[in-house]
Amino acid sequence: MCVKLSAGGNKMAGKEFLKSIELNFKQAVKFLNINKTENNLTDDLADQIMKANSTYLVRFGVRLRNKVFTFQGYRSVHSDHFEPVKGGIRYDLDVNQEEVEALAALMTYKCSLVEVPFGGSKGGLIIDPKEWSAKELEKITRRFTQELAKRDLIHPSQNVPAPDVGTGEREMAWMADEYRRLYPTDLNAWACVTGKPVSKGGIAGRTEATGRGIKYALNAFFDSKIDLEKTGLSPGLNGKRVIIQGLGNVGYHAALFLSQEDGAKITHVLERGGAIINEKGIDILRLRDHIVQSGSIEGFPGFIDKGPELLEADADILIPAAMELVITDENAERIKAPLIIEAANGPISSNADKILNKNNKIIIPDLYANAGGVTVSYFEWIKNLSRIRFGRLQRRAQENQLSSLINGIETITKEKFSDEFKKELVKGDSELDLVRSGLEDTMRTTYDVISTRWNSDKNIPDLRTAAMMVSITRIASTYSTLGI
Ligand code: GLU
Repeated sequence: MCVKLSAGGNKMAGKEFLKSIELNFKQAVKFLNINKTENNLTDDLADQIMKANSTYLVRFGVRLRNKVFTFQGYRSVHSDHFEPVKGGIRYDLDVNQEEVEALAALMTYKCSLVEVPFGGSKGGLIIDPKEWSAKELEKITRRFTQELAKRDLIHPSQNVPAPDVGTGEREMAWMADEYRRLYPTDLNAWACVTGKPVSKGGIAGRTEATGRGIKYALNAFFDSKIDLEKTGLSPGLNGKRVIIQGLGNVGYHAALFLSQEDGAKITHVLERGGAIINEKGIDILRLRDHIVQSGSIEGFPGFIDKGPELLEADADILIPAAMELVITDENAERIKAPLIIEAANGPISSNADKILNKNNKIIIPDLYANAGGVTVSYFEWIKNLSRIRFGRLQRRAQENQLSSLINGIETITKEKFSDEFKKELVKGDSELDLVRSGLEDTMRTTYDVISTRWNSDKNIPDLRTAAMMVSITRIASTYSTLGI
């Protein structure tokens, strides 16, 4: 088998992506500078915040298939104004330094925005995971972990990786296990990475978290009358036509929850190798089963051999949920959906952003929209440090209290609740209930903060600028109390 080992990833796209993030940053700084009195931001401090603090490039050899393969990986630390720094590790052939730095910067802004006390970081390995068996991937991942550990780039109090494109629970479990082998007496070793399986120190609800966060973000948006009006859409998600680009972990969960819980109609799913169209709404569970069994979307009812041009299809909501820069000045003018929510990191270039704004499209930006993942990572990290499952102490006490209350009501009213209703009513909160509650609260509270900022000044052009302004103000204030 011929194994592709690209040596530098897609550098051009990485440069473009980094430039886009920096332009977004500068735009927000421009508006903050107009209101100088309400922040501590000087131009030199803004410049210090914007640039990555450090980026580590590592090459390491792994003996596989009777020869030594050299892999190239990165871990960038964008800002360590809070530690540990946090962010995923991506396995993809297009990984490159600029991309990793852009993604690390986004992590800084994201964590600050949702008040998760981490700095921003990101890592990547230039690899096509599909080219390797699980055993080989495990060996590669363990070697990468050793290299990161040498420089504290995986460490419970310094730098905590998580899943990203091309990685998941399995890779995080290998990383955690390797770290524990290197530091067997470290009581906090499990907290060296998040997104682990529940059986290996993970938390209920982490896998679905980013997709569920998208649903909560849309719920918050639709509850904001003033913002919804700007799209011309009618109230309520029920029946809204949705295009999903990318049915990976994030796209799948967002599509599933929006269709099952909110009644939205997923009319288009765009994937590698084609798309599915069904104006009545695609059955996401069945489609996912089909992909798992056959390895592609081909053969599923509604299959069509079309690609990115379907981003321009008629719909109410467009959800790019795969990679960066899928909407650029090439196609932005033709996008029809009035509302776009960025489930992926950086799917819209800064030029495209301008075109979409000019065409009155509303964009719920990545640094807010997909922050559900890192929010639940934060809960997992706390769980690992405290070494107790959320809800373990209070669940039965809560159930006993609720039972007494129900019994009291029955005694006073001389009426009986049905057994089924009673069972539902007295159910104490499981870890999953608490995680979802914390995530929903984070997404809703944060939306209100961004929206208030946006609507407070008619010159602030969009939600992205408002979100960046909130985020940068907080980072600047942390920096100035650090006394640099
Ligand atoms: N990779 C995810 C992101 O881009 C999760 C990061 C984390 O949980 O640390 O937000």
